[in-house]
Amino acid sequence: MRIAIIGSGPAGFYAAEALLKRTDTVVHVDMFDRLPTPYGLVRGGVAPDHQNIKAVIRVYEKTAARPTFRFMGNVRLGRDLTVDDLRRHYHQIVYAVGNEADRRLGIPGEGMPRCTPASVFIGWYNGHPDYRHAKFDLSVPRVAVVGNGNVAIDVARILLRTPAELEKTDIAAHALEVLRGSRVREVFVLGRRGPLQASFTPAELKELGEMEDAEPVVAPGELAGCIDSASAGNAPQDKNLKILQSFAARRRSTKAKKLHLRFLVSPTEVIADAAGKVAGLKLERNRLEIQADGTVAARGSGEFEVLDVGMVLPAIGFAAEPIAGVPYDEKARVIANEDGRVVDPVSRAVVANEYVVGWARTGPQGLIGSHKSASAHVVAHMIADGAGLAARELPERNAILSLLRERGVQIVSFTDWKQLDDVEVARGERRDAPRDKIVDVETMLAVLAQR
Ligand SMILES: Cc1cc2nc3c(=O)[nH]c(=O)nc-3n(C[C@H](O)[C@H](O)[C@H](O)COP(=O)(O)OP(=O)(O)OC[C@H]3O[C@@H](n4cnc5c(N)ncnc54)[C@H](O)[C@@H]3O)c2cc1C
Repeated sequence: MRIAIIGSGPAGFYAAEALLKRTDTVVHVDMFDRLPTPYGLVRGGVAPDHQNIKAVIRVYEKTAARPTFRFMGNVRLGRDLTVDDLRRHYHQIVYAVGNEADRRLGIPGEGMPRCTPASVFIGWYNGHPDYRHAKFDLSVPRVAVVGNGNVAIDVARILLRTPAELEKTDIAAHALEVLRGSRVREVFVLGRRGPLQASFTPAELKELGEMEDAEPVVAPGELAGCIDSASAGNAPQDKNLKILQSFAARRRSTKAKKLHLRFLVSPTEVIADAAGKVAGLKLERNRLEIQADGTVAARGSGEFEVLDVGMVLPAIGFAAEPIAGVPYDEKARVIANEDGRVVDPVSRAVVANEYVVGWARTGPQGLIGSHKSASAHVVAHMIADGAGLAARELPERNAILSLLRERGVQIVSFTDWKQLDDVEVARGERRDAPRDKIVDVETMLAVLAQR
């Protein structure tokens, strides 16, 4: 069997591992990524001060070392390769392209200077080539981060960490330099519902109490006002509540920077100053309503306030980016699928031999570890559907390489990536960091050309 996996994040790697472990047939996996570097959000999303989480790449390196695995970085589906090319060269295709689009607030003023999706900030501090030219004006003292998930917490933490806390991480050098000069003193993390509906994980929330020069602030009255009995008894949320209560009970320390956790507020307008840049965020206070299906919704109360902030970073979720030739579900904003089998978005008929894993399948839900069983589940469908497929003759295995080279694509192999890895690690030693990332594709390719 010859199988193409598009995307080298956790979901793609776990799918590869499950496929390569098969003993009933020999499987060759070619994994493509649009970047020269593998690992998706483990490199480009996970916060730089969470190096322990990035250790998961050792598992992926073992997969990559298998003799029937090939990595082809710097190859983008939809630009360098088409879905038809994949159908011609492989028996089965797995889309593992993640969620590279943002969800928007949809309020007036969104998108004005200093109102930027959190994904841009994250990509910028993580050295993702797409965002290397992003500019952040951190001369403002107060910032609002909209959203109540771990991504919002990551963004707030990176804004408030001291340079000493950041420089020993693999944060992009350009971001470290700007953060060194940051005048941000207060960050407001805003949730439209209450603490029991927030999707923070307890460990991430607790860590907010452990920053060197910043402390979490929770107004006790506000916390008491947003607790509803319907959601109580839900384990992670109960833990979150206890952590928030402990924050609310804290005596103010001498730490210079504050991280305010606010609940039951929805942004309704980004307010501009005379220069057209963010000067405030209008918020409507909400109350909680229990729906017929038992879920808890936020309803506007008609009461408004203006939060005095000079920057707004919405972190309210992600969506899959449509790719030419790949069926797309406009409503769910994922690759159209039934339990991981790609389907036509209208007729829901199965598109034979094409599958989707990870965030491209489900939307942005689940931590890295959750993709292991989720990708294995889809691989089980691939095995069940694939009987007899291997008999279909394909062009010879290296024909795909020739095709890409004819198109002028400089393919980055896993060995090439390991060379880049060595260069980054050596650069990092200068600041006692695990690595100093190369942030643009041209430099990566130039480094490889010199070797
Ligand atoms: C900011 C942030 C922080 C996070 N922190 C944590 C954390 O601390 N712990 C944790 O467990 N989880 C964390 N997560 C969640 C975790 O990163 C995701 O669950 C996981 O990465 C999703 O895996 P994936 O393989 O579906 O997508 P991704 O990791 O996004 O991988 C998708 C890959 O597809 C490639 N690609 C996209 N389009 C194309 C194309 N057209 N052609 C070729 N390649 C393409 C991309 O370059 C990328 O490499 C975080 C997520 C975010 C956004």
